[in-house]
Amino acid sequence: MKKQDHFYDIYPKVLKVGATTTITIRPLYDHVAFKEDHEYSFTYAERDTYKKNPIEAKFENGIATIQVTPQTEQEFTLLLIDSWNNKERSTKTEFCFYAVEEDIFDLRPWKGDFHLHSCRSDGQESPVYVAANYRKEGFDFFALTDHRRYEPSVEVVEAFKQLDTNFKVFPGEEVHPPRNIVHQVNFGGAFSVNKLHENTEQYEKEVQEIIEELDLSHLDEHDKYCYASSRWCFDKIREGGGISLFCHPYWIWDDHFNVSEKLIQTFFDRREFDAFELIGGFYVTQAEANSLQVARWNEERAKGNDIPVVGVSDSHGTQNAALFNWYYTLVFAPTTDFADLKDAILNKRSVAVHNIANESPQLHGQFRFVKYAYFCLREILPLHHAECQEEGRQMLKFFAGDKNAANFVALCKNRVEDLYKKLW
Ligand SMILES: [Zn+2]
Ligand SMILES: [Zn+2]
Repeated sequence: MKKQDHFYDIYPKVLKVGATTTITIRPLYDHVAFKEDHEYSFTYAERDTYKKNPIEAKFENGIATIQVTPQTEQEFTLLLIDSWNNKERSTKTEFCFYAVEEDIFDLRPWKGDFHLHSCRSDGQESPVYVAANYRKEGFDFFALTDHRRYEPSVEVVEAFKQLDTNFKVFPGEEVHPPRNIVHQVNFGGAFSVNKLHENTEQYEKEVQEIIEELDLSHLDEHDKYCYASSRWCFDKIREGGGISLFCHPYWIWDDHFNVSEKLIQTFFDRREFDAFELIGGFYVTQAEANSLQVARWNEERAKGNDIPVVGVSDSHGTQNAALFNWYYTLVFAPTTDFADLKDAILNKRSVAVHNIANESPQLHGQFRFVKYAYFCLREILPLHHAECQEEGRQMLKFFAGDKNAANFVALCKNRVEDLYKKLW
């Protein structure tokens, strides 16, 4: 968190373009209190326009208020200049804000993960442990997507019914149909797609029907089968109301990319999945896969094929483990209700985030939302994270057997929502 956010109460931080809004800056401790013998002034500076002018502030009861009417969607800064000893000495403190157009003003940034594992497949920890750690790291929603297994995600959903929380836990699974090397995620679907292909006869019959229905003559028999099998998965995920993800095609495995180039092109041309897993699941030594996925996605966009994206961790452990919280998605939606998240993703209001600790974050998505997301990551999410941390800690205690912790979890409810109410 920035020093300013520790020392001052600053609100709102997101404003509506064209509206006059009063911004409040309240020092929280006496070391930052506005002092009688100091002179204070502010400048207002816009990122997109070079505009930088002094702006009038009111100081009353130790609180500064400033009225602003931003004219275009962009970040702006209020710079506080504090001078004393006849201006011989001075300090500067920067406060950042964002003005958005009316159409996205009611949206909020929600942090989520769409693809991760527990010890119910090849991960390290129990489903509820994983879930509580996600909340502790400031996630608003997630789904456990164990290999070939939907039940562990339901186990989390059921366990969380004991807690009064706004943290959203959705069902999910990584779907691996027989003889199909492509990985796909079922996020939020109402039933297990893995269960369906256990009925091999029915599955093989339906895949054959898809092969006959589609023109896949440019593919060899192997890839033809894989494509039809994945299309079968996407159809079933859609039937269950879930979001289907086309996962990590440039993952290097057994000396080749997980998916052949011809097959990747077929996926992009036909667009029968909902969102592309743009970044995630790779160790720092394997950055190539993510870079290739980003480059490949940009190439499609240049051709006019603008594909919705998500960032996922594909984490297999949350405690002192790599991958967890490295890659995730910021979804700009009114709420974390599944329908709102889905609508946001399909309408490309999701930003894939690469944010490894002690590195500079890299964001991918639509320019408008990437720009806004950088602001949110810097100015909003650290405050949001602080609100989730205690709640996640109490969830861990609850699942470890301390039933009293449920009361603390309940007390934390709405902390994020209240913060967002204040900041917008
Ligand atoms: Zn996978
Ligand atoms: Zn996975």
